[in-house]
Amino acid sequence: MDDEEVQRWFCELYNAHYTDEPTLSPNRIQFEYVSDAYGKCTYVGSFEYSVYLGINPDHWVKSTREEQIRLLIHELGHTRDHAGKHSPDFWEEVIDIYRSAINSTDTFSFRVEWDDVARRLVDNPSIGKVDNRSETVYERRKKIADALGVPYNENDLWTDMPISQWITQESRKRPIDEIEHTLYDKQAICDWYRSGQTSMSIENEIYMIDPIPIVERGESYTTIDKDGDMMCSIFTHTDRGYVQTIPADDEDRITI
Ligand SMILES: [Zn+2]
Repeated sequence: MDDEEVQRWFCELYNAHYTDEPTLSPNRIQFEYVSDAYGKCTYVGSFEYSVYLGINPDHWVKSTREEQIRLLIHELGHTRDHAGKHSPDFWEEVIDIYRSAINSTDTFSFRVEWDDVARRLVDNPSIGKVDNRSETVYERRKKIADALGVPYNENDLWTDMPISQWITQESRKRPIDEIEHTLYDKQAICDWYRSGQTSMSIENEIYMIDPIPIVERGESYTTIDKDGDMMCSIFTHTDRGYVQTIPADDEDRITI
């Protein structure tokens, strides 16, 4: 791994974007190897250093130049103090840094496949890298793709979201196509999730969904409330064959 090259690229990307600020040079970077992440970065602003940059050498040497540039653009976003580490503001900054990079033609002496870098930025958000109170992985990926003009298959953005189900003692697997439910679209599901008080939570960076309360209606089943419809919609969109359900007594529940 060429440490000097990494720092030079980082500075070039920084200087292409933060044109109103003092030029960043490699001797102002506190650089080190890290092993518990692909990269780390913070603004230091001390007498000695402006920026701390940690890079995982194993990941770096295995990566294409486009992935390396993608990583540096992400880390550059962390030189600004955002309300949260991977807040919406952080991601908007990343989008702007990318735009500055492609518009400054002399940033790199070699030909960069910028479309490839953009595609990688779209894939970058994960549960651990979005502010889940304000947006889901799906929404953030979509925002980046729209902002950078990256064509995408909506289903890809959705199915990459890790979704799983709790299993409780009384839960049973039922075929999703035998459960009658209102089908909500993906955006409605995201809005429902962010409203809180839902049967969906995050556990170990996976969206976890409770067993779906259903009542039997002859040969088929039906959901008992809007939460159940939302939960079924998630599994219908992700093409699951079976889902965990719990038998519910519809007499006890008020249907919305
Ligand atoms: Zn980050």
